[in-house]
Amino acid sequence: MNRNYNYVLAPKVFCGCSHSRAVIEGDHYVCPSQDGVKKIRRGVLDPIILECAIEFLTLENIAKIAKIVSQEYAKEKQGRLSLASFEARLQTCMREKEKLMARIEDGNVSESELARALELKKEEIQLQALIEQEKKESIVLSESMVMDRLKEVQENVRTDPKYAWSLIDLLIDSITLYEDSALIRFNTGETQKVNTFD
Ligand SMILES: [Zn+2]
Repeated sequence: MNRNYNYVLAPKVFCGCSHSRAVIEGDHYVCPSQDGVKKIRRGVLDPIILECAIEFLTLENIAKIAKIVSQEYAKEKQGRLSLASFEARLQTCMREKEKLMARIEDGNVSESELARALELKKEEIQLQALIEQEKKESIVLSESMVMDRLKEVQENVRTDPKYAWSLIDLLIDSITLYEDSALIRFNTGETQKVNTFD
């Protein structure tokens, strides 16, 4: 398995004796607390983890993950300033500016009114940029979109390594190494014990 795949997996691997992150030395995951104790070969652990991740992708779990991901996404969105408030402010600015512009055309304005018109123009430009930005970021990530993505990963995971990386990244929270076993914790909260006897 290639280096990029390990790049995604390795930071999720911990040693069971101290729950510190295992380090990679050559072909092995090594305990960080006991001097250089080799825990398991990467060539043994990595394919086991990938197989578990693939098996975890049942239709039921795909639906569950899709729900979790889209809910997380919706929560993040709520934290942002709303598009509606920017749009409302823009309308107010434009109305005030129009009134001033009408007076400017009549040649009937004070200097402070001219300055105010310029201020409003500036704010209008800023608001338009913010609105554009907000629209770009507010793309909805629906459950069905996440499900489609997961099914795409499922179909291609054995033939294209980049799907294997994204599967590991999406599903696996951590892997804790014990003597002849490993405990996999999935991002959904489930755990699974696997034998890793070499
Ligand atoms: Zn250890």
